[in-house]
Order: sequence, then C-alpha cells, then structure tokens
Amino acid sequence: MPEFKTSPGTRDILAPHSARWRAFQDVFANTVEAAGYTYIIPPMFEDLDVFLRLGEATEVVTKEMYDFHDKGGRHVALRPEQTASVCRAFVEHRPTTPWKVWYAGPNFRYEKPQQGRYRQFDQVGVEALGADDPLLDAEVIALASKFYSDLGLRKVHLSVNTLGDAGDRERYSQQLLAYFMANEKDLTAESRSTLARNPLRVLDSKREPDQIVIAGAPAIRDSISTTAAQHFDAVLQALDALNIAYELNNRLVRGLDYYRRTTFEFTSTALEAAHTAIGGGGRYDGLVEALGGPATPGIGFALGLDRTLLACDAENVFNSPETSVDVFVVDTVGGLQAHEICHLLRNNGVSADRAYDSRSMKAQMKSADRSGAKIALIIGSEEVESSTIMLRPMGSGEQYSIAREKCVGEIRKALENK
Ligand code: AMP
Repeated sequence: MPEFKTSPGTRDILAPHSARWRAFQDVFANTVEAAGYTYIIPPMFEDLDVFLRLGEATEVVTKEMYDFHDKGGRHVALRPEQTASVCRAFVEHRPTTPWKVWYAGPNFRYEKPQQGRYRQFDQVGVEALGADDPLLDAEVIALASKFYSDLGLRKVHLSVNTLGDAGDRERYSQQLLAYFMANEKDLTAESRSTLARNPLRVLDSKREPDQIVIAGAPAIRDSISTTAAQHFDAVLQALDALNIAYELNNRLVRGLDYYRRTTFEFTSTALEAAHTAIGGGGRYDGLVEALGGPATPGIGFALGLDRTLLACDAENVFNSPETSVDVFVVDTVGGLQAHEICHLLRNNGVSADRAYDSRSMKAQMKSADRSGAKIALIIGSEEVESSTIMLRPMGSGEQYSIAREKCVGEIRKALENK
C-alpha cells in the first residue's frame, strides 16, 4: 500500500489547534463586524482571467497560480488571494457604496513550502469599495491593529507608504528602472530578472547585495502628485489622531501590481526574519475598472492566519481554547443508560460524551480523565435500580448520588461550583 500523506505545503489542522483557528476567525469577525463590515464568501476558484487582472508582473500570478482546465474546457484557477474575487463580486452585483466586506478562508499559491509559507494558507481580510476618503484608509489600518491587539499581540510593527497615483507610479517605475539598470551589475540574478518584469518589486528584495543598491534608490514620495501627497498626509494625521504608531517606509511597495496610494504592512518582531510579514494591504483604485466595472476606489488588507498564529506562539498569547465537554458518562450496565443520559444532557445544553463498546469501568474512567470533562456521571446496576446517578466532580476524590429525574438541574449546579 502506498503511504498517503498531505501534499507539500498543506497540513491537517487537528485539535486543539483547529479550535484556535476557529476562535481566530471569531475574534476577527467580532472586530470587523463592529465596524460595519459584512461577511462575504467568494468561491475558491474563478476564471483565470479574474486573477490575471492582478497584474502580469505579480509573482502570485506569473509563478504561483494553481490553474487548470476543467472538464468543460474552462481555464480556472484556485484563488491566490481574495481581493480580486471581491472586486469581481462588486462588478457582478453592483451593491451600494461604500461596500465594506470581510472574508476568511484558504488561498492557494505554488510556493516553496517552509516554516510560515504554505501552498494552502488562510487569510482573514476586509475590503472597502467606493470611498476615496483618507479616513477610510486609517480606519482599515486601525481595524487590523485592533485585531492584533485583541489577539494579545504586542510585538507588531506597522510600516506605511504611498505609491502615489497611477501616473506617479508609472513615472517612478521608469525612474527606478533607469537607476537599477545603471547599477545592474551589483544586483543579484533574481533581482535582475524581477527588474525586467517590474522594477518596483526589486525594492522588495531582502537579499543583501540588493539591499546596498536599494539603499541608494530614489524614493517615490519625492515624485508623487500634490493630491496623492495630500491624501497621504491626511491618512497619517488620521492615524496620529488614533495614536496608532507607524513607521514611514518609502521602500514598501508590496506584492500586487494594482496598489495605488496608501500601502501598509504589519510585521511581527517576535518572528524569524524569513516570515515576519503577518499582514498587509493598501489602496487598489483601478482594480474594479480592470475587472469591467465603473471607476471605483478600494482599500483593504489581508492578514495571514498561519503566520499570525506563529507570532502568537512566539509571544505566548492566544493559546488554543479549551474544547472539552462538561460531562463524561460512565455506564457499566451495557451502554444504553449512557446513550439516554447523553441525549438528555445534550438536549438541555450540557455537553456530554461517553465511551463505547462496553469497556471496563477502569477503561471508561480513563477516558473520562482524558476527555477533560469537569464531571463524571457513573451508572451501574445499583443506580439503575434506585433511579439515581453517581456524580463525581473530576479530581475531587468525592462523589455523591443524585436523583435521575432531577439530574439536569443537579449537574448544572455541580458545574457552576466547578
Ligand atoms: P499578500 O496577500 O501576499 O499581501 O499576503 C498577506 C499576508 O498573507 C502575508 O503577510 C502573510 O502573512 C500571509 N501569506 C502570504 N502568502 C503566504 C503563504 N504562502 N503561506 C502563509 N502565509 C502567507
């Protein structure tokens, strides 16, 4: 028999971690729904063309896409991120603006798997379409910040930058191209190849030889339009008004081609250098138009769940929540008693589990211990005869008998005392 294992870059998330994942999404939902964002569930695959709109020079699109022809001959791709799908949904449904939505779920990128980098990874995020207001940029950044702090993270660093308007970005790209071409011999081979596709992305390189060249590169903020500069100033003032600490980083361009104006990134200073980026986002005015809709400004962020949880591990916060049942029923008279009592308790809002296959009392007590239940209920022939149940608060060394017909109330009382 072949030995089946998960495909590279994918993982099974088992308990107790799976409960932590769910709690993560709950905390996120609470944070963003409190700010008027509604939940959107886009499909996991779309026509490849939707994602191609993210930009021909975007690595996610050129190198990492899981695309295939389906049985109907359609060229589709598993989503590498969700912003494109949200914008496609906006164009398809034309909701009233501002349209503020949040999402959570897996994305797929054919990357080299390593710690903090997977081929299937989860993101939570928001998108706000239809408003150009710099206060919205600050709101979006503030929400991400609040979410990190709701998780208990303290070592989160925020960098912000502006890429100017479309024209500014194009002009800057040309300036950068000229600069990097003049210094091409000092760049790494990888960056030389990136340069041919997108000079801006060379700024992303963390490789040391590139860093030296990058340090001397022109900064975009010196060449942006007055309106883009005013917009950015207003964003920074709005962040200041909320006491949100940030660092201006004029090398921050971020992955996707469609970013305009404000861009931002969150890094964890508690993580190893290779995967410190735990989330980021920016304005993508122009993407809706590229997908066939009316000119519509947009801003959003995506936070990496997998990596943010690694940051939580590093800071020892947001540990896996307890998921044990309240009660474990031990039945030494065949199992039907446990069957009925569990059903009764579950129907009355008390979580309950049991053992199967008529195991010995000792084995059942072991299972009760392992289950983490607060209370064990024990039913033997004596209990059946007297219509009682033995109630044992776990770890107390005590036990007492309760009337079977009043058991729900008695158990609730005992749970309150635990
Ligand atoms: P991006 O959509 O590339 O802007 O990524 C946003 C966030 O998603 C990053 O900051 C990471 O935390 C996370 N992320 C991106 N790619 C991966 C991956 N392959 N594995 C795990 N997390 C990822």
